[in-house]
This record gives sequence, C-alpha cells and structure tokens, in this order.
Amino acid sequence: MNSAPLNSNQLKAQAQRLGFVACGIAPAEPVQEWYAQGFRRWLQLGFQADMEYMQNHVEMRLQPALLHPGVKSIVSLALNYMPTHQQPGISLYAQGKDYHDVMKERLRQLMTEAGLQGRCFVDTAPVLERYWAWRCGIGEFCQNGLISVPGYGPTVFLGEIFAEQEADAYDEPLSPASERFTGWESLCPALTPQGLDARLCLSYQTIENRGELPHDIHLKRTFYGCDKCLRACPQFKESHPTTEQAFQPSDELLGMKEEDWRALTPEQYKVLFKGSAVKRAKYEGLIRNISKWKKQ
Ligand code: SF4
Repeated sequence: MNSAPLNSNQLKAQAQRLGFVACGIAPAEPVQEWYAQGFRRWLQLGFQADMEYMQNHVEMRLQPALLHPGVKSIVSLALNYMPTHQQPGISLYAQGKDYHDVMKERLRQLMTEAGLQGRCFVDTAPVLERYWAWRCGIGEFCQNGLISVPGYGPTVFLGEIFAEQEADAYDEPLSPASERFTGWESLCPALTPQGLDARLCLSYQTIENRGELPHDIHLKRTFYGCDKCLRACPQFKESHPTTEQAFQPSDELLGMKEEDWRALTPEQYKVLFKGSAVKRAKYEGLIRNISKWKKQ
C-alpha cells in the first residue's frame, strides 16, 4: 500500500489534463451536522418519493468511513456536460452518452495515473455528492439546491474518489453554505423551503417513476427530465458548451421530430439510446412520457 501523502497540486493538474473542470480535496470526516439534519428532515418529509435507496444506508451517507473503511481523503471532481446542440424533448444532461460510464472511466484513469488507492463513485452509492462538491470547494450551492462550478455553472456532472491516502493540503468551501430553497416555489412547487419534493418534480416523474404518471402532470418542453430550474438558476449564464464529445447528441437524436417521437418503435429506441442515460426510463417509460407530452 502507498502511504505517501497525496500530492494535491499534482492530482489537480492530472485531473485537468483528463478534462475535469474542477477538482477539490477534503478530509473524509462525517458530513457536517447542518447538512445531516437537513437530509434527515428531507427523508422524514417523504420528499424522496419512491426512491427507497435514499432511505437505505443513511448513516453510511453521513459517515464516509462506513462506506469505505480506511478512507482518509475525499476528492470531488466535475465534468462539464453542456452540449453544443440539444434535442429539445430531452434534458440537457442526457443528450449524449451515459455520464455514469464516462465519469467512472475518467475517475479510474485518474486513480491509476495518480496512484490512488480507494474507490470511486458516480451517483450509484450512498454518497452525498453535492455536499462533497461544496465541502471540497469545487462549487457553490445554488438556491435551488444544485451545485454550480465557477466558470461552468450548474451543468456539471459530479464524481468522487474515496482515497486511502491523506493529502498534503486540503481545500475549504468556496463560500459558507447559504440558505437554499428560498423563493423558488413560484417557479416550481417541487422547490419547497425544506428541499426538493421529488413527488412534484418532473425529472423524478419522467425518469424514476416506474408506474403511471400522476394525472395532473403536464409535460410541455421536455418528455425526459426537466431543465426549468436549471435554466432559471442565475449561474446558468456561466454554462458554456463542453469539449467532451461523449456528451454531444448524435445526428440521429437531433434529427428526431415530434411525429418521429410519437411513432418511436422499440427497435429505433435501442439504436437511438445505445449507451445513453435515457435508457433508465426504459422504452415503456419513455412512451408513457411521450403520450403525456403536449408541446407548445
Ligand atoms: S427539475 Fe423541473 S420539476 Fe423538478 S424541481 Fe426543477 S423546475 Fe421543478
């Protein structure tokens, strides 16, 4: 096992060469109490809807050492996903290849190059990724709960490395955690002062909900995900197109018109969304969404 401390400057330079737009490091301490309290309250309110996995391993989410014994440092990293062009029916983040695959491969590459022992995570383990992005100083909380990376806005994917080495220097948050979720209810009822109520969120409903869509849900601009609060975020003006080819939509996806979506077959779906995050909704889920989509 490599016991030399992690060289923070070298790691950040390596991360930049690999295309990460931000990299920060924090000691692997338990999540701070103010955030832990907010998270527990959010669960008590049932705002996680049917995402039962959010209720599991709560203590593991709050104490990194329970998820990966031996962890000393947490490295938070961001990739810019803002595509150059957009297929309008689909949320900006899902225009290209599945970010889980792209980010995971990139994190592994960084671990190998930097000689890091530990594990890396992309949205699939009990890790509070927005908290760690804030704590590691790579982004600030937007009032709608998103993380915005200076110079890149909130259109970023986040990933984490739980490293078994201590670092020679740690980062601090860019700013104190400001009050979140205030003044957004008029934009969207899902953005309550207590946090995002997934039950009312179109992103949750169109991607995670495996059952019927509530009858009072109306899909207008998008039928997969929702970018309304992302676009309304004041920091969205900092978002600009990524150089990552993997996050650009294919010509076939860009060429899809409303009538093509309404006639989408399972075979076309498979070809169109090969390696895409849109597969999470499955063919049946996407067709269910499209049938509720009333473009204006
Ligand atoms: S993604 Fe859309 S529905 Fe969900 S909180 Fe934001 S604006 Fe509301």
